[in-house]
Amino acid sequence: MRICVYCASSDRVDRRYHEAAATLGRVLAQARCTVVYGGGAVGLMGALANGALDAGGEVIGIIPRFMTDVEWQHPRVRNLEIVEDMRERKHRLLTGSDAVVALPGGCGTLEELFEALTLKRLGLYLNPIVLLDTNGFYKPLQAFLQQVIDERFMNPEHAAMWQRVERVEDVLPAIRDAPPWREDARDYAVVR
Ligand code: AMP
Repeated sequence: MRICVYCASSDRVDRRYHEAAATLGRVLAQARCTVVYGGGAVGLMGALANGALDAGGEVIGIIPRFMTDVEWQHPRVRNLEIVEDMRERKHRLLTGSDAVVALPGGCGTLEELFEALTLKRLGLYLNPIVLLDTNGFYKPLQAFLQQVIDERFMNPEHAAMWQRVERVEDVLPAIRDAPPWREDARDYAVVR
C-alpha cells in the first residue's frame, strides 16, 4: 500500500507528537507500506521519515522546487520528487495513494486534509482518510465537523468519510476497516 501522510512542519510541538510520527513511520515500514509525504526534514515530517527509514521502509518525498532552493528537503530521502508548486505537490501526494493519514499539523496539514475530504465528498477520492488523534489534537475538529453536519452544511453520511484513532497501532486497522466509498457519493454530495 502507498500511504499519503500529512503532518506538521513545526519542530516546537510536544514530544508526544514527534514520537507518534516516528512510530507511525516505523509501523508503516514494517507493514511494507510506502510512505508518501511532503519531503521535509523538520517537525513531524522529519520524524515520520526517519522512523520509516530507520525501519528500512520506502519513503517518497514530494517537494516544491522553491523549498529545495532553501534546502528544506530531507537529506536521507533518496526518492525525492521535485515539483513546480504547492498545487502540484498536493495533487501528487494524493494521486495513487491507497489511504491518507493526517497527523496533527498547522494550516498546511489542515488544507491537505480538507482537500482530501472535499474530493471524497465528490466521489473523486475513494480511499480511507484517517486522523491520528494524538493527545486529543483532533477532538475540536471532530466536534466542529459534527456541528457542520448538525447544521446541515454536510449530510450525516459524510461523517463516514474519515476515521479518527487515538493510537498509532490503530491506524492500519482503521484503514482496513474503513467503510467503502464509491463514486456515487456524488449522489449525496449535495445537502438534502
Ligand atoms: P503545517 O501543517 O502548516 O506545518 O504544514 C505542513 C505542510 O507545509 C507540508 O506538507 C508542506 O506543504 C509545508 N511545509 C511547511 N514548512 C515546510 C518545510 N520546512 N519543509 C517542507 N515542507 C514544509
